[in-house]
Amino acid sequence: MRDHLGRDIRYLRISLTERCDLKCIYCREETAYCQAKRELSVTELARLMGLFAGLGITKVRLTGGEPLVRRDLEEIVHMIARIPQVRDLSMTTNAQSLADRVGALRRAGLQRVNISLDSLQAERYHRMTRGGTLQKALDGLHAALREGLTVKVNVVLVRGENDAEIDDFVALARNYPIDVRFIELMPFCALSAAAEKRVPGEEILARHPALRPVAARHPSQPAADYQEPGALGRVGLIDPISHRFCCCCDRVRLTSDGKLRMCLGQEKETDLRAWMDKSDTALRYIMQKAIYNKPDAHGFDSGFHAVRAMNQIGG
Ligand code: SAM
Repeated sequence: MRDHLGRDIRYLRISLTERCDLKCIYCREETAYCQAKRELSVTELARLMGLFAGLGITKVRLTGGEPLVRRDLEEIVHMIARIPQVRDLSMTTNAQSLADRVGALRRAGLQRVNISLDSLQAERYHRMTRGGTLQKALDGLHAALREGLTVKVNVVLVRGENDAEIDDFVALARNYPIDVRFIELMPFCALSAAAEKRVPGEEILARHPALRPVAARHPSQPAADYQEPGALGRVGLIDPISHRFCCCCDRVRLTSDGKLRMCLGQEKETDLRAWMDKSDTALRYIMQKAIYNKPDAHGFDSGFHAVRAMNQIGG
C-alpha cells in the first residue's frame, strides 16, 4: 500500500526477539537487561503476516535481537515462506549459531542472510561484540554459502575500533562472491550517539579509488553500490545520516512485542497487540492507518533520542 507521500510500502522487518547472545558495543549498553517478555508467538505472527501480505508486503527480513535465539525460528520461516505474496525472505544474524541450523532454515524457505561481521580479527571481534567468537561467525558464513544462500556481510564502522580494517573488508568483496555493506553508525546508545565515532562513506571511497558506482540490485535498496573491476562481490555504503534515503524508504518494522514502527529513527509506534483481540477488519484498519502516516523522514540529525536500544527495535 502507499503511504501519504506515495511511497509504496512493501518491506517488513520483523524483530523476533530483543534477546541476543552478543552485546555489540554500538547496539546497546553493556548493562542493558534483555528479556523474552511478550514475544509474538508463531500463531500471532501468522495472523499479522496474513494481514501484512494483504496490505502489499512482499519482502520480509527477520531480525532482532538475534533471531537464532528463538527455538521456533525454523517454524516461523516455514510459515512466512508459504505466504504466496512473500517473494523475498531473508534474515540478519550474528551467525554465532548459524552453521548448525542453516540447512534446516534453507529447507524451511529462507533465501538470503546478512551476517554482521565487524572485524576479521578474533580479538577485536570478541571486544566489539562483547563476547562473540569470530570463528563461529565465519563457520556460519561458509555454511550459508554451501547451502546456496545469498550472503551479505554487514559492517558497522566505529572510528578507532575497526576503521583500520576497511581495506580487509574491501578485499573480501574483491575475492569472494559476497557483498560487503558498510553501515553508518546510528545513535542508539552512548557510544553510537558520539558523532566523532562515525566513519563517512566518502572516506572509504577516497581510500579505494578503484571502487566504481554500479547500478543498484533493487531500486529501493538503501545501499549505494560500488565495485572494483573484476571483483566478485560489491561494496555497499548505507549512510542513513550523511546520505538519507527516506524519500524512497519502502519499509516498516514489527517489534518482537508487537509494535508497528514505521521508521527506525522516529519513536512513534502503534501497539498491534492491543488490537489482537479485535476482528481482522479492525486490526487491518489500524495497520493501514499507521502505515499511511509513516513519518516523512528519520530524526537522527534533528534531536532524535533513542528510547529503545537497537536490539529492542530490530536493526
Ligand atoms: N543480531 C543480529 C545481527 O547481529 O545481525 C540482528 C540484529 S542487529 C540489531 C541488526 C543490524 O543492526 C546489524 O547489522 C547491526 O550491526 C546493526 N546495528 C546495530 N546497532 C547499530 C547502530 N547503532 N548503528 C548502525 N547499525 C547498527
